[in-house]
Amino acid sequence: MSYPSIAHVPVTAPSSPRHPFDLQGRVALVTGCNTGIGAGIAVALAQAGADIVGLNRSDASQTAEQVQALGRRFVPIQADLSRTEAMGDVLAQALAAVGHVDIVVNNAGIIRRADALDFTEEDWDAVMNTNLKSLFFLSQAVARHMLDCAAQQGAQWRGGKIIHIASLLSFQGGVRVPSYTAAKSGVLGLTRLMANEWAAKGINVNAIAPGYIKTNNTEALRQDAGRADAILQRIPAGRWGQPADLGGAAVFLASSAANYVHGHTLAVDGGWLAR
Ligand code: NAD
Repeated sequence: MSYPSIAHVPVTAPSSPRHPFDLQGRVALVTGCNTGIGAGIAVALAQAGADIVGLNRSDASQTAEQVQALGRRFVPIQADLSRTEAMGDVLAQALAAVGHVDIVVNNAGIIRRADALDFTEEDWDAVMNTNLKSLFFLSQAVARHMLDCAAQQGAQWRGGKIIHIASLLSFQGGVRVPSYTAAKSGVLGLTRLMANEWAAKGINVNAIAPGYIKTNNTEALRQDAGRADAILQRIPAGRWGQPADLGGAAVFLASSAANYVHGHTLAVDGGWLAR
């Protein structure tokens, strides 16, 4: 199937949104939003007006309550992103419930820690499948859907936004997390590749690289007093981040304010990479 290029499909909203960051009328699919960064981003997108499809392995009722308290819909979808077979079904479930998806935030991710000398194939595959392979195939399914919307709606189509959650280890090597570093470096590369292929079709693909954020992902690191203190000393902002710190960047990249931003990985890291 061939898809129209941007020359035929203007991405300007048919009726102007109230302000460039307004997400009213938009539907955002957020993976792994029952906790941590995904929950922070889902709530921030809902605050900006978006309805949320939450794709989770486990119960996301806390996030659902926060989204609904803002007057937005929360549609839960159950899926295990360590497997990619069901990606089409996952999207079909979302579309059956909400009709269209305008924004996807590929947030779900895991980390496995061991010295490179001891690292197992199981830990390699688990992280690569969840953090990179699923991210690619879910993006592919969503991009196909977005381009179908473009073909059907023509000038009425408002464009699509795909946001990946990268990491400082998209830029740096890290230690004791080989598959995580490989996956997150791959996320930065795929962000550029997808932008190169889809920018002219009206889909913005960008990424957010969080710094050190207080979530389950960094629990083990924060339990190690020496490492936790060394990290804190190196953060120019003088504190670890909170999930809510990622919200503004996500709203920006999901909104029409970012219509000319393509293939960028935006660090939200308290200044870590500047040091
Ligand atoms: P978290 O452990 O609190 O959240 C991870 C989320 O991913 C959870 O909702 C979890 O259920 C979901 N998930 C994991 N495996 C899944 C699977 N197989 N199927 C479906 N969902 C699955 O950690 P977090 O810090 O909020 O992590 C969110 C993202 O941010 C991850 O991609 C992580 O790599 C990234 N990140 C975190 C930090 C940090 O400092 N916390 C820094 C950089 C990047």
